[in-house]
Amino acid sequence: SSVSTPIRATLFPGDGIGPEIAESVKQVFKAADVPIEWEEHYVGDQIDPRTQSFLTWESLESVRQNGVGLKGPMATPIGKGHRSLNLTLRKELNLYANVRPCYSLPGYKTRYDNVDLITIRENTEGEYSGLEHQVVRGVVESLKIITRQASLRVAEYAFHYAKTHGRERVSAIHKANIMQKTDGLFLKCCREVAEKYPEITYEEVVIDNCCMMLVKNPALFDVLVMPNLYGDIISDLCAGLIGGLGLTPSCNIGEGGIALAEAVHGSAPDIAGKNLANPTALLLSAVTMLRHLELHDKAERIQNAILNTIAEGKYRTADLGGSSTTTDFTKAICDHL
Ligand code: NAD
Repeated sequence: SSVSTPIRATLFPGDGIGPEIAESVKQVFKAADVPIEWEEHYVGDQIDPRTQSFLTWESLESVRQNGVGLKGPMATPIGKGHRSLNLTLRKELNLYANVRPCYSLPGYKTRYDNVDLITIRENTEGEYSGLEHQVVRGVVESLKIITRQASLRVAEYAFHYAKTHGRERVSAIHKANIMQKTDGLFLKCCREVAEKYPEITYEEVVIDNCCMMLVKNPALFDVLVMPNLYGDIISDLCAGLIGGLGLTPSCNIGEGGIALAEAVHGSAPDIAGKNLANPTALLLSAVTMLRHLELHDKAERIQNAILNTIAEGKYRTADLGGSSTTTDFTKAICDHL
């Protein structure tokens, strides 16, 4: 295809292994001739008073302006007087849904061959509202906030995703038998949205039963939507089904159509700077960003090159049982393009 003006996208290389795996994305995009111009932003070493965080106002503006971005892992510096970097991004950009596709990689054997799940996590409230206090000595309280607005928004996103991605079923995951008011409201909102999508099968599954079913037979599920904490846990469980954190991508969806893709894993300080990190998770996150931009040809080509490299088995990083460096593995992907 002939594209004249490049699309601008924000890139946060992040901390630890972040710069190494971000470099890998830049190289693969270059080799695949992706019409994207990266606008790189770094986490500062001083608090920006406008954001109360080490992320500058200019960095946030860049994502708002571009509407798309890719984020490496960020290690939150310890100390008082600032907000967590990930929380700042989530709140300031109103990143209300975290979408994590999780599928078996052909040629990389795990306990299951048939995993093909999408978890959609509410990303702004629930147990992660950050409202905790001590009532009296020895008694603390944490507020789990569920609102109709945020629940409808994430449910709407889940059903729309299912419909536009050829998915057949949405399962709402909950514990409404115990959390009657909060999870009860979440379910009520999911049901309301489900009525607008009669072509999509809707079901409700209690979280404990869901965990048992997922590890017994992941093929029982298709798209899963759930409140914040359950989503955090279930999506890592799903990552474990297909081979671990080095492989699983995600994309944060924000108000006004913002898409900020990121790997699920952290900055991996134990292997940082050693050319050992597996860039697959960030690369596949970048692929979700391309799909969001409807650059489907490029997305498909890059995804196939990654999967073929892993399937071939000649170049794999240590987390997948191989002995390749990040740079060798990246070069092998470029050669597969
Ligand atoms: P981690 O995900 O960084 O590491 C867990 C284990 O997985 C480590 O052994 C690591 O070597 C391995 N691992 C992770 N990604 C890998 C990759 N791409 N290739 C090969 N191996 C990989 O989790 P952690 O050690 O608990 O956290 C480290 C730091 O990252 C903390 O400061 C934490 O706050 C931060 N963190 C950030 C994010 C984010 O930015 N979204 C998410 C999780 C953790």
